[in-house]
Amino acid sequence: MTAPERPIELREFPEPDLPEGGALLATAFSEVCGTDVHLWHGRLAGVPYPIIPGHVSAGVLAKVRGRLIGVDGNVLAEGDRVVFFDVHRTCGRCRACTVHGTPTRCPSRRVYGITDPASEGLFGGWSEAIYLEPGVAAARLPDAVGFEDYIGGGCGLITSVHAIERAGVALGDSVLVQGTGAVGLSAIALARLAGASQVFAIGAPPERTELARSMGADEVFDVATTTPEARLEAVRALTSGDGVDVVIEAAGSARAVEEGLNLARDGGTYVIAGHYTNAGTSTINAHEQINRKHLDIRGCWGSQVRHFLRALRILERNAAHVPWRFVGSRTYALTQLNEALADAEAMRIPKALVRP
Ligand SMILES: [Zn+2]
Ligand SMILES: [Zn+2]
Repeated sequence: MTAPERPIELREFPEPDLPEGGALLATAFSEVCGTDVHLWHGRLAGVPYPIIPGHVSAGVLAKVRGRLIGVDGNVLAEGDRVVFFDVHRTCGRCRACTVHGTPTRCPSRRVYGITDPASEGLFGGWSEAIYLEPGVAAARLPDAVGFEDYIGGGCGLITSVHAIERAGVALGDSVLVQGTGAVGLSAIALARLAGASQVFAIGAPPERTELARSMGADEVFDVATTTPEARLEAVRALTSGDGVDVVIEAAGSARAVEEGLNLARDGGTYVIAGHYTNAGTSTINAHEQINRKHLDIRGCWGSQVRHFLRALRILERNAAHVPWRFVGSRTYALTQLNEALADAEAMRIPKALVRP
Protein backbone atom coordinates (compact mmCIF):
# COMPACT_ATOMS: atom_id res chain seq x y z
CA MET A 1 0.00 0.00 0.00
CA THR A 2 2.06 2.89 -1.34
CA ALA A 3 -0.18 5.77 -0.23
CA PRO A 4 -3.82 6.40 0.66
CA GLU A 5 -6.31 6.00 -2.19
CA ARG A 6 -3.72 4.34 -4.46
CA PRO A 7 -4.12 0.85 -5.91
CA ILE A 8 -2.21 -1.88 -4.07
CA GLU A 9 1.09 -2.66 -5.84
CA LEU A 10 3.06 -5.90 -5.87
CA ARG A 11 6.72 -5.40 -4.97
CA GLU A 12 9.66 -7.72 -4.40
CA PHE A 13 11.80 -7.45 -1.28
CA PRO A 14 15.14 -9.11 -0.48
CA GLU A 15 15.06 -11.97 1.98
CA PRO A 16 16.03 -10.48 5.35
CA ASP A 17 19.32 -11.27 7.07
CA LEU A 18 18.05 -12.77 10.31
CA PRO A 19 19.63 -11.54 13.55
CA GLU A 20 19.95 -13.86 16.56
CA GLY A 21 16.41 -14.65 17.76
CA GLY A 22 14.83 -13.52 14.50
CA ALA A 23 12.69 -15.69 12.24
CA LEU A 24 11.00 -15.81 8.87
CA LEU A 25 7.40 -16.95 8.66
CA ALA A 26 5.99 -18.36 5.39
CA THR A 27 2.56 -16.72 5.35
CA ALA A 28 -0.40 -19.09 5.23
CA PHE A 29 -3.13 -16.51 5.80
CA SER A 30 -3.53 -12.85 6.54
CA GLU A 31 -6.73 -10.82 6.58
CA VAL A 32 -8.39 -7.62 5.42
CA CYS A 33 -10.03 -5.89 8.36
CA GLY A 34 -11.77 -2.57 8.88
CA THR A 35 -8.45 -1.00 9.84
CA ASP A 36 -7.03 -1.87 6.42
CA VAL A 37 -9.93 -0.07 4.77
CA HIS A 38 -9.21 2.97 6.99
CA LEU A 39 -5.51 2.75 6.05
CA TRP A 40 -6.43 2.65 2.39
CA HIS A 41 -8.41 5.88 2.78
CA GLY A 42 -5.72 7.56 4.88
CA ARG A 43 -7.97 7.77 7.94
CA LEU A 44 -5.30 6.80 10.49
CA ALA A 45 -2.68 9.27 11.70
CA GLY A 46 1.07 8.58 11.64
CA VAL A 47 1.10 5.73 9.10
CA PRO A 48 4.53 5.52 7.37
CA TYR A 49 3.43 4.69 3.79
CA PRO A 50 4.39 2.65 1.88
CA ILE A 51 3.42 -0.22 4.18
CA ILE A 52 2.77 -3.94 3.81
CA PRO A 53 -0.70 -4.26 5.38
CA GLY A 54 -1.99 -7.34 7.16
CA HIS A 55 -1.51 -6.97 10.88
CA VAL A 56 -2.84 -10.35 12.03
CA SER A 57 -1.48 -13.33 10.13
CA ALA A 58 -0.51 -16.97 10.49
CA GLY A 59 2.09 -19.15 8.85
CA VAL A 60 4.73 -21.83 9.02
CA LEU A 61 8.16 -21.06 10.46
CA ALA A 62 10.48 -21.18 7.47
CA LYS A 63 13.73 -20.10 9.12
CA VAL A 64 14.90 -19.43 12.67
CA ARG A 65 18.27 -18.01 13.71
CA GLY A 66 19.26 -19.22 17.16
CA ARG A 67 16.59 -20.09 19.71
CA LEU A 68 13.05 -18.82 19.40
CA ILE A 69 11.01 -19.11 22.58
CA GLY A 70 7.26 -18.67 22.23
CA VAL A 71 5.34 -16.34 24.53
CA ASP A 72 3.89 -19.45 26.21
CA GLY A 73 7.43 -20.65 27.05
CA ASN A 74 7.70 -23.34 24.35
CA VAL A 75 10.62 -23.52 21.93
CA LEU A 76 9.47 -22.86 18.36
CA ALA A 77 11.07 -24.80 15.52
CA GLU A 78 11.17 -24.57 11.74
CA GLY A 79 8.07 -26.24 10.32
CA ASP A 80 5.84 -25.25 13.25
CA ARG A 81 2.52 -23.54 12.56
CA VAL A 82 3.06 -20.18 14.23
CA VAL A 83 1.06 -17.04 14.95
CA PHE A 84 2.32 -13.81 16.51
CA PHE A 85 1.08 -10.72 18.28
CA ASP A 86 1.15 -7.79 15.86
CA VAL A 87 2.12 -5.17 18.48
CA HIS A 88 5.85 -4.96 19.16
CA ARG A 89 8.46 -2.58 20.62
CA THR A 90 6.21 -1.52 23.53
CA CYS A 91 8.94 0.06 25.64
CA GLY A 92 8.03 -0.77 29.24
CA ARG A 93 9.77 2.43 30.41
CA CYS A 94 7.60 5.40 29.40
CA ARG A 95 4.88 6.95 31.55
CA ALA A 96 2.12 5.17 29.60
CA CYS A 97 3.83 1.82 30.27
CA THR A 98 4.91 2.37 33.86
CA VAL A 99 2.87 5.11 35.55
CA HIS A 100 -0.50 5.05 33.83
CA GLY A 101 -0.66 1.31 33.20
CA THR A 102 -1.75 1.91 29.61
CA PRO A 103 0.86 0.11 27.46
CA THR A 104 -1.46 0.19 24.43
CA ARG A 105 -0.86 3.98 24.47
CA CYS A 106 2.96 3.62 24.57
CA PRO A 107 4.44 6.04 22.00
CA SER A 108 7.20 3.58 21.02
CA ARG A 109 4.72 0.81 20.26
CA ARG A 110 4.63 -0.36 16.65
CA VAL A 111 2.16 -2.59 14.87
CA TYR A 112 2.84 -5.00 12.00
CA GLY A 113 0.94 -3.97 8.89
CA ILE A 114 -0.04 -0.56 10.28
CA THR A 115 2.83 1.51 11.72
CA ASP A 116 5.83 -0.46 10.39
CA PRO A 117 7.19 1.03 7.15
CA ALA A 118 7.86 -1.26 4.18
CA SER A 119 11.27 0.43 3.89
CA GLU A 120 12.30 -1.52 7.00
CA GLY A 121 11.32 -4.90 5.60
CA LEU A 122 8.65 -7.59 5.69
CA PHE A 123 6.49 -6.26 8.54
CA GLY A 124 3.07 -7.19 7.19
CA GLY A 125 0.99 -10.20 6.24
CA TRP A 126 0.02 -9.26 2.68
CA SER A 127 3.27 -10.90 1.67
CA GLU A 128 4.63 -14.36 0.99
CA ALA A 129 6.88 -14.08 4.04
CA ILE A 130 6.87 -12.11 7.29
CA TYR A 131 9.94 -11.12 9.28
CA LEU A 132 9.57 -11.83 13.00
CA GLU A 133 12.04 -9.57 14.71
CA PRO A 134 13.57 -10.65 18.04
CA GLY A 135 11.17 -9.95 20.89
CA VAL A 136 7.96 -10.38 18.90
CA ALA A 137 5.45 -12.43 20.90
CA ALA A 138 4.94 -15.61 18.86
CA ALA A 139 3.26 -18.90 19.71
CA ARG A 140 2.65 -22.28 18.15
CA LEU A 141 -0.92 -22.59 16.90
CA PRO A 142 -2.56 -25.34 19.01
CA ASP A 143 -3.14 -28.58 17.06
CA ALA A 144 -6.91 -28.30 17.50
CA VAL A 145 -6.96 -24.88 15.82
CA GLY A 146 -6.92 -24.65 12.03
CA PHE A 147 -5.38 -21.66 10.25
CA GLU A 148 -8.92 -20.82 9.10
CA ASP A 149 -10.20 -20.76 12.70
CA TYR A 150 -7.41 -18.45 13.84
CA ILE A 151 -7.62 -16.02 10.94
CA GLY A 152 -11.44 -16.10 10.93
CA GLY A 153 -11.24 -14.80 14.50
CA GLY A 154 -8.23 -12.65 13.60
CA CYS A 155 -7.77 -9.18 15.02
CA GLY A 156 -11.47 -8.97 15.85
CA LEU A 157 -11.20 -11.88 18.26
CA ILE A 158 -8.17 -10.41 20.06
CA THR A 159 -9.89 -7.00 20.27
CA SER A 160 -13.01 -8.68 21.65
CA VAL A 161 -11.07 -10.51 24.36
CA HIS A 162 -9.95 -7.06 25.53
CA ALA A 163 -13.45 -5.57 25.20
CA ILE A 164 -15.03 -8.37 27.27
CA GLU A 165 -12.30 -7.88 29.88
CA ARG A 166 -13.02 -4.13 29.98
CA ALA A 167 -16.74 -4.82 30.24
CA GLY A 168 -16.27 -7.21 33.15
CA VAL A 169 -19.04 -9.48 31.86
CA ALA A 170 -20.33 -11.56 34.78
CA LEU A 171 -22.27 -14.82 34.95
CA GLY A 172 -25.90 -14.22 34.10
CA ASP A 173 -25.38 -10.78 32.55
CA SER A 174 -27.40 -9.53 29.63
CA VAL A 175 -25.10 -8.22 26.89
CA LEU A 176 -25.86 -6.28 23.74
CA VAL A 177 -23.27 -5.97 20.96
CA GLN A 178 -23.58 -3.11 18.48
CA GLY A 179 -22.11 -4.17 15.14
CA THR A 180 -21.81 -7.55 13.42
CA GLY A 181 -18.40 -7.11 11.81
CA ALA A 182 -15.35 -9.11 12.88
CA VAL A 183 -15.17 -7.49 16.34
CA GLY A 184 -18.91 -7.71 17.00
CA LEU A 185 -19.19 -11.35 15.90
CA SER A 186 -16.38 -12.41 18.22
CA ALA A 187 -17.75 -10.27 21.07
CA ILE A 188 -21.07 -12.14 20.75
CA ALA A 189 -19.32 -15.51 21.06
CA LEU A 190 -17.12 -14.36 23.95
CA ALA A 191 -20.02 -12.80 25.88
CA ARG A 192 -21.71 -16.19 25.65
CA LEU A 193 -18.53 -18.00 26.76
CA ALA A 194 -18.13 -15.51 29.62
CA GLY A 195 -21.49 -16.63 31.00
CA ALA A 196 -23.96 -14.08 29.69
CA SER A 197 -27.53 -15.32 29.98
CA GLN A 198 -28.83 -13.15 27.15
CA VAL A 199 -26.87 -11.87 24.16
CA PHE A 200 -28.36 -9.39 21.71
CA ALA A 201 -26.83 -7.81 18.63
CA ILE A 202 -27.59 -4.99 16.22
CA GLY A 203 -26.07 -5.18 12.76
CA ALA A 204 -26.28 -5.70 9.01
CA PRO A 205 -26.32 -6.99 6.30
CA PRO A 206 -28.39 -10.22 6.52
CA GLU A 207 -25.40 -12.58 5.97
CA ARG A 208 -23.73 -11.07 9.03
CA THR A 209 -26.86 -11.03 11.19
CA GLU A 210 -27.33 -14.71 10.32
CA LEU A 211 -23.74 -15.40 11.33
CA ALA A 212 -24.34 -13.41 14.55
CA ARG A 213 -26.99 -15.95 15.51
CA SER A 214 -24.65 -18.87 14.91
CA MET A 215 -21.96 -17.10 16.99
CA GLY A 216 -24.40 -17.16 19.91
CA ALA A 217 -26.76 -14.16 19.71
CA ASP A 218 -30.29 -14.84 20.94
CA GLU A 219 -31.82 -11.88 19.17
CA VAL A 220 -30.36 -9.85 16.29
CA PHE A 221 -31.85 -6.55 15.14
CA ASP A 222 -31.19 -5.51 11.56
CA VAL A 223 -29.99 -1.91 11.80
CA ALA A 224 -31.32 -1.19 8.31
CA THR A 225 -34.90 -2.37 8.82
CA THR A 226 -35.60 -1.43 12.47
CA THR A 227 -35.57 1.99 14.21
CA PRO A 228 -33.60 2.90 17.37
CA GLU A 229 -36.94 3.46 19.14
CA ALA A 230 -38.21 -0.02 18.19
CA ARG A 231 -34.90 -1.59 19.27
CA LEU A 232 -34.98 0.19 22.65
CA GLU A 233 -38.52 -0.97 23.23
CA ALA A 234 -37.68 -4.56 22.24
CA VAL A 235 -34.53 -4.72 24.39
CA ARG A 236 -36.37 -3.30 27.42
CA ALA A 237 -39.18 -5.82 26.93
CA LEU A 238 -36.60 -8.64 26.93
CA THR A 239 -34.90 -7.37 30.13
CA SER A 240 -37.81 -6.75 32.51
CA GLY A 241 -37.94 -3.13 31.41
CA ASP A 242 -34.38 -2.39 32.58
CA GLY A 243 -32.08 -2.42 29.55
CA VAL A 244 -28.98 -4.61 29.38
CA ASP A 245 -26.18 -4.92 31.93
CA VAL A 246 -23.45 -4.44 29.32
CA VAL A 247 -23.37 -2.81 25.89
CA ILE A 248 -20.32 -3.31 23.68
CA GLU A 249 -19.97 -0.85 20.83
CA ALA A 250 -18.31 -2.54 17.83
CA ALA A 251 -20.00 -0.51 15.10
CA GLY A 252 -17.62 2.43 14.68
CA SER A 253 -20.42 4.92 14.17
CA ALA A 254 -21.22 8.06 16.16
CA ARG A 255 -24.95 7.26 16.03
CA ALA A 256 -24.31 3.86 17.61
CA VAL A 257 -22.88 5.56 20.72
CA GLU A 258 -25.97 7.75 21.08
CA GLU A 259 -28.19 4.69 20.89
CA GLY A 260 -26.02 2.37 22.98
CA LEU A 261 -26.10 4.67 26.01
CA ASN A 262 -29.89 4.29 26.06
CA LEU A 263 -29.80 0.49 25.73
CA ALA A 264 -27.70 0.01 28.89
CA ARG A 265 -29.55 -0.28 32.19
CA ASP A 266 -29.05 2.13 35.09
CA GLY A 267 -25.67 1.32 36.63
CA GLY A 268 -24.69 -0.68 33.55
CA THR A 269 -21.46 -0.62 31.57
CA TYR A 270 -20.75 0.71 28.10
CA VAL A 271 -17.52 -0.26 26.34
CA ILE A 272 -16.46 1.59 23.21
CA ALA A 273 -14.38 -0.82 21.12
CA GLY A 274 -15.35 0.07 17.55
CA HIS A 275 -14.08 3.62 17.10
CA TYR A 276 -10.65 2.85 15.63
CA THR A 277 -10.87 5.95 13.49
CA ASN A 278 -12.57 9.30 14.01
CA ALA A 279 -16.23 8.63 13.19
CA GLY A 280 -17.33 12.13 14.13
CA THR A 281 -19.07 13.61 17.16
CA SER A 282 -21.80 11.87 19.13
CA THR A 283 -24.45 13.99 20.81
CA ILE A 284 -24.88 12.90 24.40
CA ASN A 285 -27.15 14.20 27.12
CA ALA A 286 -24.85 13.86 30.14
CA HIS A 287 -27.70 14.15 32.63
CA GLU A 288 -30.07 11.63 31.08
CA GLN A 289 -27.63 9.18 29.53
CA ILE A 290 -24.69 9.13 31.94
CA ASN A 291 -25.08 10.85 35.30
CA ARG A 292 -28.65 9.98 36.24
CA LYS A 293 -28.10 6.48 34.83
CA HIS A 294 -24.98 6.08 36.97
CA LEU A 295 -23.38 4.55 33.86
CA ASP A 296 -19.79 3.30 33.50
CA ILE A 297 -18.30 4.20 30.10
CA ARG A 298 -14.98 2.62 29.16
CA GLY A 299 -12.70 2.96 26.15
CA CYS A 300 -10.79 0.00 24.75
CA TRP A 301 -7.71 0.78 22.66
CA GLY A 302 -5.58 -1.92 21.05
CA SER A 303 -4.69 -5.07 22.91
CA GLN A 304 -1.87 -6.64 24.87
CA VAL A 305 -0.01 -9.93 24.68
CA ARG A 306 -2.33 -11.50 27.24
CA HIS A 307 -5.33 -10.92 24.99
CA PHE A 308 -3.50 -12.67 22.13
CA LEU A 309 -2.58 -15.63 24.33
CA ARG A 310 -6.11 -15.89 25.78
CA ALA A 311 -7.50 -15.81 22.23
CA LEU A 312 -5.39 -18.88 21.43
CA ARG A 313 -6.65 -20.74 24.50
CA ILE A 314 -10.24 -19.79 23.71
CA LEU A 315 -9.83 -21.06 20.15
CA GLU A 316 -8.23 -24.28 21.35
CA ARG A 317 -11.20 -25.02 23.58
CA ASN A 318 -14.00 -23.65 21.39
CA ALA A 319 -13.09 -23.53 17.69
CA ALA A 320 -14.84 -26.87 17.15
CA HIS A 321 -18.25 -25.44 18.08
CA VAL A 322 -17.98 -21.66 17.54
CA PRO A 323 -17.90 -20.96 13.80
CA TRP A 324 -15.02 -18.48 13.66
CA ARG A 325 -13.85 -20.09 10.42
CA PHE A 326 -17.02 -18.90 8.70
CA VAL A 327 -16.26 -15.26 9.54
CA GLY A 328 -13.45 -15.45 6.98
CA SER A 329 -15.70 -16.15 4.07
CA ARG A 330 -13.67 -15.48 0.95
CA THR A 331 -9.99 -15.84 0.15
CA TYR A 332 -8.00 -13.51 -2.10
CA ALA A 333 -4.57 -13.87 -3.70
CA LEU A 334 -1.98 -11.06 -3.56
CA THR A 335 -3.05 -10.05 -7.07
CA GLN A 336 -6.67 -9.54 -5.90
CA LEU A 337 -6.10 -7.19 -2.97
CA ASN A 338 -7.78 -4.17 -4.55
CA GLU A 339 -10.89 -6.29 -5.01
CA ALA A 340 -10.56 -7.60 -1.44
CA LEU A 341 -10.46 -4.04 -0.06
CA ALA A 342 -13.47 -3.01 -2.14
CA ASP A 343 -15.45 -6.07 -0.97
CA ALA A 344 -14.49 -5.45 2.66
CA GLU A 345 -15.54 -1.81 2.45
CA ALA A 346 -18.87 -2.65 0.82
CA MET A 347 -19.45 -5.31 3.56
CA ARG A 348 -20.21 -7.81 0.80
CA ILE A 349 -18.70 -10.53 2.99
CA PRO A 350 -18.06 -10.86 6.75
CA LYS A 351 -14.28 -10.90 6.30
CA ALA A 352 -11.82 -11.11 3.41
CA LEU A 353 -8.85 -13.43 3.89
CA VAL A 354 -5.53 -13.07 2.11
CA ARG A 355 -3.66 -16.18 1.00
CA PRO A 356 -0.31 -15.12 -0.45
ZN1 LIG B 1 6.19 2.63 26.67
ZN1 LIG C 1 -7.51 -5.58 12.21
